[in-house]
Amino acid sequence: MLAILHPDTPLDSDAYRQTMHFLENLPGVSVRVHEVQGASQKLTEVYLLGDTKSLDRDEIAALPAVERAIRISEDYRILGRHHDDQRQNGFTYNGVTFDQQNLNVFAGLCAVDTPEHVDIMMRALSEHGQQCTRMGAYKPRTNPYSFQGHGSACLPWVFETAGKHGIKVIAMEITHESHIEEIDQCLEKLGRPTGVMLQVGTRNTQNFELLKSIGRQSIYPVLLKRGFGITLNESLNAAEYLASEGNANVVFCLRGMKTDAGQPHRNMVDFAHVSTVKRLTRMPVCIDPSHSVGSRERAPDGLLEVTHATAQGIIAGANMVLADFHPKPEKALVDGPQALLMSELSPFLADIQLCHDTWKERQRLYSASSRTEAT
Ligand code: PEP
Ligand code: MN
Repeated sequence: MLAILHPDTPLDSDAYRQTMHFLENLPGVSVRVHEVQGASQKLTEVYLLGDTKSLDRDEIAALPAVERAIRISEDYRILGRHHDDQRQNGFTYNGVTFDQQNLNVFAGLCAVDTPEHVDIMMRALSEHGQQCTRMGAYKPRTNPYSFQGHGSACLPWVFETAGKHGIKVIAMEITHESHIEEIDQCLEKLGRPTGVMLQVGTRNTQNFELLKSIGRQSIYPVLLKRGFGITLNESLNAAEYLASEGNANVVFCLRGMKTDAGQPHRNMVDFAHVSTVKRLTRMPVCIDPSHSVGSRERAPDGLLEVTHATAQGIIAGANMVLADFHPKPEKALVDGPQALLMSELSPFLADIQLCHDTWKERQRLYSASSRTEAT
């Protein structure tokens, strides 16, 4: 059961005290309070865990500080979308909104290499009105002798360059909790010229200690990649780890599944799950066509397969795209062969917009028939 308190209920009010006293004394039930900072108000959600089957929803809804009570399912308690659950989805970070309706593109370098390449990339993004990018500083690599990323050494110049070009959010993978501190200290020292969305890579989806550390901070939102070899349910539970520790500002990223059945793609493209994740949870959904398809193969219609996969995800309602670009793919230190070229940025963005608009049009097409069915 979830009790949502009236917005901005003061924690020292009689209504709050009486409500909490009642809830905390329910036999066999433990109480977990979760604060949600919305655009204009603060919401307090009180989760009742344990033996809640016999609880009377109306009785809880009638408590002085409670606005609404919702019976929630066991799975994804915080991030899930429950029956009769009209709670807001999404969040705003550093002036950029992430929700289940809108769309943000994170084109950028798989791995940061030279200041010149970072500058070319970010300048091009800013010229195209983009505020977000992807930049890998800490790279998890299969081979221990492969380039592991520049790590904290590159953060100052990456963040300064981002500030110079008006980039507001950088998706940056971290592989260890100490990286949160390194990023935070560097941003603070520079006067926060940009923002960071902490990316959890597919190899770390079930690194529960890393998830807990990231979940315990609420400065930075999180981009959680789906685990490449586990069920969707297991990956969604990984996202719930972040929320259960306190950080519900999570975007869920589909990046393909590792199976030979996906060949000749690098992974089996799983973008049919875009709408599924939106149905099961309130998280905005990202697609990563670069790591799903993993090549620059061109179909007979003249389009790259990676752009076809992108279109499939966006037309199904994806809210974010993570895409590898590089000014000189032949010089890229990681994933050059799958990178898009700077000359492809313009059509890529236009294609994405076209597909996003088409997704909206598709909703209009079907809305009349679903209303008829409901009556
Ligand atoms: C990446 O986005 O650079 C990456 C390593 O992705 P994944 O964790 O999905 O393999
Ligand atoms: Mn990569």
